[in-house]
Amino acid sequence: MLPAAEKVITRNWGKPDSWTLEAYRANGGYRSLEKALGMTPQAVTDEVKKSNLRGRGGAGFPTGMKWSFVPKDSPKPKYLAVNADESEPGTFKDRYILENDPHMLLEGVTIAAFALGVRTAYVYARGEFKFQAERLQRAVEEAYQAGILGPTVLGKPFGLDVFVVRGAGAYICGEETGMLESLEGKKGWPRLKPPFPAVVGLFGSPTVVNNVETIASVPTIIERGAAWYAGLGTEKSGGTRLICLSGSVNRPGVFEITLQTTVRQLIEDERYGQGMPAGRKVKAVIPGGSSAPVLAAHEIDVELEFEALKKIDNMAGSGGVIVMDDTTCMVRSLWRVIRFYAEESCGQCTPCREGAPWAARLLRKLEEGRGEPEDLEILLHVAHSIAPFPPIGLGNTICALGDSVALPIHSFVARFREEFEAHISQHRCPFGDRPWGHYGALRA
Ligand code: SF4
Repeated sequence: MLPAAEKVITRNWGKPDSWTLEAYRANGGYRSLEKALGMTPQAVTDEVKKSNLRGRGGAGFPTGMKWSFVPKDSPKPKYLAVNADESEPGTFKDRYILENDPHMLLEGVTIAAFALGVRTAYVYARGEFKFQAERLQRAVEEAYQAGILGPTVLGKPFGLDVFVVRGAGAYICGEETGMLESLEGKKGWPRLKPPFPAVVGLFGSPTVVNNVETIASVPTIIERGAAWYAGLGTEKSGGTRLICLSGSVNRPGVFEITLQTTVRQLIEDERYGQGMPAGRKVKAVIPGGSSAPVLAAHEIDVELEFEALKKIDNMAGSGGVIVMDDTTCMVRSLWRVIRFYAEESCGQCTPCREGAPWAARLLRKLEEGRGEPEDLEILLHVAHSIAPFPPIGLGNTICALGDSVALPIHSFVARFREEFEAHISQHRCPFGDRPWGHYGALRA
């Protein structure tokens, strides 16, 4: 049987008033901060490095290594920007951290700030996170009142201010440099890299950008030690991870799992998905948010871990696992995904700005039975112009949103080509008509 995952992130969820300072402290909160303040900043960074913590926002970059890129001798102020702009379709885990345990995030922010020499930190929450941002703001106020934030932290000669900022509902502000632009009060347009934010970030200063789940893992790493945390995971990835399971399963939700858990186990295990609805079979699974390549049913024995998914030209992404059953039309599903990215493209790069709506129009044409034989090749050509695949990450665009258009197209067509061809040869969707109303205004 699949071993149960240690509760690293979810350990306080469900406890009475878990979002308050009183409850957090009663459950052992802020002891890691005290411990960290007794260490040197370098020792804290080393501990995070040794823990093999990897970013949980999408790219999976080693967190300790990212921290060590910040130039120590820079005369400029350094910033920490926590990315809570959780907008990837299929991903809804960070919101639960903000709701259930905002102090765990704040403790992580304070430890990270101490390690990095940061005196000002920002948490950038997506515009729709009104409730979550208010709950976090309340936690920030409690922390100031308790002397955890402010000119001195727990009476030590180290001060930290934390600001909660809400976006205005643009997906692209979840891209780290788009978020920095937005924090500076500008349009959230991603920046060309290099330079990377660790060197030239917020207001031109060295800035570490980390995801909510990543930072919320830090207190436990300091409390239990890097070796313990690293030991929970695999050779190159430490700890556990949150997974957002949605789609055709009996029990969708957010689950903390071991990194050795496979997609199939996640779907079938009684503690997680509890299998498919009666009579349904797995047809396809998106393993890391809607920008990740799709897996066919025969590929789901892969572990939901960064390296394992990379080995098969896929990605762990933001932990959004979307399950599709045998009644799902893959053309319609891909159209739905691409319409989202076409809508959210910021418009800076021609391949993304023009290619994404073009692909969406082609998919609509196929789905409505108006497709012509050459449309499939045009679709693939458009995707190739945005980002060739594999490998992942060779996009011809400023940011990874271009890849988020190309990767689903490449992977859906590679695995379900006959279904795309059937739409063309039958001049209709083989899965029958569906009401279109819930797709909203059909702009593409
Ligand atoms: Fe904007 Fe798309 Fe270019 Fe990203 S890839 S910068 S979203 S146009």
